[in-house]
Amino acid sequence: MTVGFRWGALTDVGRVREINQDAVHAEAGLFIVADGMGGHRGGEVASAVAIASMTDGGQAPITLDQLLARVHGANAAILERAAGDAALAGMGTTVCAVAALADPGEAEPNRLGIVNVGDSRVYRFADDQLVQVTEDHSLVETLLREGRISADEARTHPHRNILTRALGIGSDLEVDYWELPIHLGDRYLLCSDGLFNEVGDDQIAAVLRRLADPAQVADELVRLANDSGSRDNVSVVVAAVDTGPDESAPPIPEPRGSAPATAEFPAVDPQVAFAVDDPVGDPAADPAADDPPADPAGDPAADPDPSAPAGRRRRRWWKRRGT
Ligand code: MG
Repeated sequence: MTVGFRWGALTDVGRVREINQDAVHAEAGLFIVADGMGGHRGGEVASAVAIASMTDGGQAPITLDQLLARVHGANAAILERAAGDAALAGMGTTVCAVAALADPGEAEPNRLGIVNVGDSRVYRFADDQLVQVTEDHSLVETLLREGRISADEARTHPHRNILTRALGIGSDLEVDYWELPIHLGDRYLLCSDGLFNEVGDDQIAAVLRRLADPAQVADELVRLANDSGSRDNVSVVVAAVDTGPDESAPPIPEPRGSAPATAEFPAVDPQVAFAVDDPVGDPAADPAADDPPADPAGDPAADPDPSAPAGRRRRRWWKRRGT
């Protein structure tokens, strides 16, 4: 049976930030969330470059090697862009993706590939259970794993914005990846930290149990994040396996590649890591423009406009289509 997907995708500026540095992508068989970081307009450029690079080279299905190559290609593209523009120096982004994978030379996908760098997340909702597939590459995740803070403390930790891995830091990039069987009815949720820092896993699972339609799930999760204050940009992509093999959902395996984030912190110099909670960006700037004015002396982020309407950079996609 031909594998198909239904999906919904939504990214929202939230209630506090002036600009949306998140970016999402959703098409049949390739779903991506990127959460950009960096002063001036670097964050939104980094996430946009990551999505553009990840989607360059044709639609899914692709091979696992191609998926991994796209992540490394995105990293190289961000580094190259930053090197050519002083205003973008130090920009970076998370990226997580779910892709329909096929063997070389095959047109029909036979499994899903998941990749992750940073603290955006991929969850699987199967058999009525929500399970986080990816591991966050963040300081709080390291502290949590070492038992030094609780899960509740992690959600409000003052340094929850410090990443241990991101695209745009250097050419030596470590990418976590998983391969999972395609299972009819499974839903995959990709999100930026703006969702899970505001909305608990129990609430997320309840929404997935209550609503079947991926677009409605995305809408509802963003609404819940905004209702709880949305101190960050919030992005949600929901991809449902609509047609395909109907077998029992297998357990989520350990990552096929890469070790979990090293327990040694900082793996990234905190000066290089990104304080994403800082208000950044120029509220007057055109969000569609890709090239910010070179203005290394003045940082418009120092004076964000609190009167700017929230949600004005809301973008929305949803479609129904098979691969
Ligand atoms: Mg974020």
